[in-house]
Amino acid sequence: MTNMKTAIYPGSFDPVTSGHLNIIRRAASVFDELIVCVMVNAGKNPMFTLAERVDMIRRVTADLPNVTVDCSEELLAEYARKKGSRVIVKGLRAGSDFENEFQMAMINRKINPELDTMFLTAEHQFTYLSSSTVKELAAYGADLTGFLPETIIQDVRDRIKKNRKEEINK
Ligand code: ADP
Repeated sequence: MTNMKTAIYPGSFDPVTSGHLNIIRRAASVFDELIVCVMVNAGKNPMFTLAERVDMIRRVTADLPNVTVDCSEELLAEYARKKGSRVIVKGLRAGSDFENEFQMAMINRKINPELDTMFLTAEHQFTYLSSSTVKELAAYGADLTGFLPETIIQDVRDRIKKNRKEEINK
């Protein structure tokens, strides 16, 4: 179908949170096809590998037939061009996201003038949720119910346990 509207939702998703999933569901109901793309972020030291992050997102989006999950090491604007998509979806949280996202949107458009960035807001209870906050809470053994999709909680707990063991055996 030539008129298919495909959007791309990029991020680190380390790991996918309930906030991410809320944005994914909203975007999937607006566009014909949504590609969730795990991007390599050189600035971050990830808890999960790219493949693990892709797998986790696949598990929590299995009920959404128009969502596909991919990963990429290239520039987002180039990736979008290759996929024939003109829309980047971003989630906007209260506070600090705006400046950074605005700058990224401008840069992406400079690289690919046809590209638009559309911002969605998640439900209010996810407004302050980020992967890094969740990882910090998890390190203290806090209850992660509501912050992460149910099946992802165990992945995070297992990874923290594994990392601790490796730290002790060093
Ligand atoms: P994080 O900051 O949680 O590590 P990512 O880099 O994976 O997030 O974020 C990918 C996209 O999802 C970004 O556009 C980010 O603003 C958005 N996002 C992340 N968490 C939320 C949330 N709780 N509500 C709305 N948008 C979110």
